[in-house]
Amino acid sequence: MISLALSKGRILDETLPLLEAAGVVASENPDTSRKLIIATSRPDVRLIIVRATDVPTYVQYGAADLGVVGGDVLAEFDGSGLYQPLDLKIARCRLMVAVRRGFDYEQAVRSGARLRVATKYLQTAREHFAAKGVHVDLIKLYGSMELAPLTGLADAIVDLVSTGNTLKANNLVAVEEIAAVSSRLVVNQAAYKLKRAAIQPLLDRLKKAVR
Ligand code: AMP
Repeated sequence: MISLALSKGRILDETLPLLEAAGVVASENPDTSRKLIIATSRPDVRLIIVRATDVPTYVQYGAADLGVVGGDVLAEFDGSGLYQPLDLKIARCRLMVAVRRGFDYEQAVRSGARLRVATKYLQTAREHFAAKGVHVDLIKLYGSMELAPLTGLADAIVDLVSTGNTLKANNLVAVEEIAAVSSRLVVNQAAYKLKRAAIQPLLDRLKKAVR
């Protein structure tokens, strides 16, 4: 049996068509089902529905053999034991620094001001600002980062931007790109060796589907 860990939302929506192209069809719609383990048209492949940030953990411990996870989540994950054989090129977006419209970010950086930055991406944000030599106080949030500059909690946020509509609706502007983000297939290293006969053909078909 091969277990593939997926999170609901964009990743699930964009992975299911790739899986179908690779010959794996979910037996029910994971978006509407309350089941956390979903069978597929392939008796040896099942889907496990977990939170996005938990996907690398399930794969690291081998509770899932494969997973689909955003580069943003992977960059924050400090575990080991994962192969990243394939960029699925889905759920694409950019990790950006954003501020309230009218806040002079460049000037604040130039003047050496200490910035308060709210984000759920502490590790990535810390590395980014350290590389720029900008002093920051990071504030960990779990969601709705856009609210932080509007309420005075922070000067800036580090968050994912896709269309830019959420920033616009909240009177925020992106001022700096940190990274382009897409979702990757991750594989438990031990499973890759032990179940290679089953995993490799699936990988090859997914590779074709991505192309
Ligand atoms: P948008 O309004 O299209 O720029 O989307 C921005 C909102 O969607 C922010 O709250 C982001 O955290 C979230 N978001 C954008 N892209 C992704 C993604 N690929 N995965 C998860 N969340 C995303």
